[in-house]
Amino acid sequence: MKQKKFILQEHELPTQWYNIQADMPNKPLPPLNPQNHQPVGVEDLAHIFPLECCRQELNTTDAWIPIPEEVLNKYTFYRSTPLVRAYALEEALQTPAHIYFKNESVNPLGSHKINSALAQCYYAKAEGTENVTTETGAGQWGAALSYAASVFGLNAAVYQVKISMQQKPYRSSIMRTFGAAVTGSPSMSTRAGKDIITIDPTHPGSLGTAISEALELATTTPHCKYTLGSVLNHVSLHQTIIGLEAEKQMAMAGEYPDVVIACFGGGSNFGGLAFPFMRHNILDGKQTKFYAAEPDACPKLTKGHFEYDFGDEAGYTPLLPMYTLGHKFKPANIHAGGLRYHGAGMIVSQLLKDGLMQGVDIPQLETFEAAMLFARTEGIIPAPESSHAIAATIREAQKCKETGEEKVILFNLSGHGLIDMSAYDQYLDGDLVNYSFD
Ligand SMILES: *Cc1c(COP(=O)(O)O)cnc(C)c1O
Repeated sequence: MKQKKFILQEHELPTQWYNIQADMPNKPLPPLNPQNHQPVGVEDLAHIFPLECCRQELNTTDAWIPIPEEVLNKYTFYRSTPLVRAYALEEALQTPAHIYFKNESVNPLGSHKINSALAQCYYAKAEGTENVTTETGAGQWGAALSYAASVFGLNAAVYQVKISMQQKPYRSSIMRTFGAAVTGSPSMSTRAGKDIITIDPTHPGSLGTAISEALELATTTPHCKYTLGSVLNHVSLHQTIIGLEAEKQMAMAGEYPDVVIACFGGGSNFGGLAFPFMRHNILDGKQTKFYAAEPDACPKLTKGHFEYDFGDEAGYTPLLPMYTLGHKFKPANIHAGGLRYHGAGMIVSQLLKDGLMQGVDIPQLETFEAAMLFARTEGIIPAPESSHAIAATIREAQKCKETGEEKVILFNLSGHGLIDMSAYDQYLDGDLVNYSFD
């Protein structure tokens, strides 16, 4: 059977993002000011983030948000991304399931992160900001942000998790090529970084430490806004371009997914693919299942607690209602750097609590076994993060083989792994291990 791809024409691209907050049966609880425990308003966030992003963050009424023309224009450089029927994978698994994947690795930055980076930099520029700062784990967000900043003429300063910087040195090269200043976190350049290093001089860094440092820089530098690559509501909003395209492309294929799967760090590629389909569960009685695949070494969805917690290590962010392992949680050094965050976004946390989605946790070695099979059948080397979605898809396809069910499974290939080859080398040399959570 030939590989089959579905691609939208430029004039068919979605022109609005989907804001699931408007349709949720229970809205997310409000973020709280840690000093007085009062709900945070747009004006409290606006000294940190671009104003329009703050409005989107707290917008629980408008289901559709127009995509600015300048952003749509940049999207047409690489969108639509292909929806692919993975016949070769199906055949290797001998499964009756129909497996589709949305290929978000097909853009010059190699992951879905560019979809929100362009939007955030556009809004920052439109309101007169000159500098943007952020944190990055494995480096995909930093790379996307650095590129988007250069597109809109902004300076970018990126704090990269120290351990990821050592594991994936080429990502800092990419960021610097786009003109960004890159610093390993924790660093001595901020008060938060100094405090962390004083307590633990060998701290490998985490997204929590890097967020603290970037936030400190943003709030102490004039004309500087902070941007975030995951977790927050407006980031998932921008990513819904993925699911809105996929919805049209599934219709071109004459199918509708029974199961939607994505890997899970803070929830943006999951929400991006899932929310437009979940809309039909909420409004039209569809019964699609939604699985968010997380590492068993950082299992906030399956083993975390739903409570108010900080989004960063130092406690600079508002208190967020989230499934969390605690903001001091130090994840093991798994290769899926983008999934080593301690908490889940506010929207997905509420959806999980309400039973509209499920978490699945997967050991590191199983994700690499899945990546091998995917690479050898479909010819694409997946990002270690995306391999969690592939592993969850394979589990589901194997269940279909046992029961004979012809389910339609759709997963998100959130990025490629071509800059993660040292992780693949370790796996191939037999040097990778599982880390379970205790
Ligand atoms: C950052 C990243 C993720 C995790 O982030 P989410 O917000 O949970 O999507 C997953 N896959 C890739 C390739 C990434 O770069």
